[in-house]
Amino acid sequence: MSLNAGVIAVQGDVSEHADAIRQAATDRGETAEITEIRQSGIVPDCDLLCMPGGESTAISRLIQSEGIAPEIQAHVEAGKPVLATCAGLIVAAEDAGDDRVENLGLLDVTVERNAFGRQKDSFEVPLSVTGLGEPFPSVFIRAPLISGVGDADVLAEWDGRPVAVQNGSVLGTSFHPELTPDSRIHGLAFFGE
Ligand code: GLN
Repeated sequence: MSLNAGVIAVQGDVSEHADAIRQAATDRGETAEITEIRQSGIVPDCDLLCMPGGESTAISRLIQSEGIAPEIQAHVEAGKPVLATCAGLIVAAEDAGDDRVENLGLLDVTVERNAFGRQKDSFEVPLSVTGLGEPFPSVFIRAPLISGVGDADVLAEWDGRPVAVQNGSVLGTSFHPELTPDSRIHGLAFFGE
């Protein structure tokens, strides 16, 4: 049976996540049917969810106005997996210190937007990630800093700062795992080790 995978698609990079989810599923002998989510009523049928990067203020505003936000929270309360990357992590966090972002509180972390500099300061670095073998090529683009970690597990650090965290079924990364051909972070988030 095919997995029903939802990618929040109100704004941000969607197709790269869809490809990575399909690849991660294939690697486990599964198939995934991808649905792009722009309105309410779809999340409840999803087995797994991805919250992509983009602009967290826009993503937050649209998932609230479309009624998608409470559905994502119910998805997590049901113990189903979520991968939240970059702007997705900002929205999923407990607090982003920005009134324009209504945080969903899916991850017990505080974040600081754009703390790694501007677009031109983007960089890629191989990182050790708990649960993965070889280092993961991690792309940072106007990435958030995870400034405080409450009851969450830190899976990866860069320069002594957490950049991948997990709370139960929710995994968040400051970086963009969908921007390399390596789908192991998606595999870890959706299928476990
Ligand atoms: N800087 C963006 C924000 O604050 C996130 C950047 C990204 O997702 N690449 O929302």
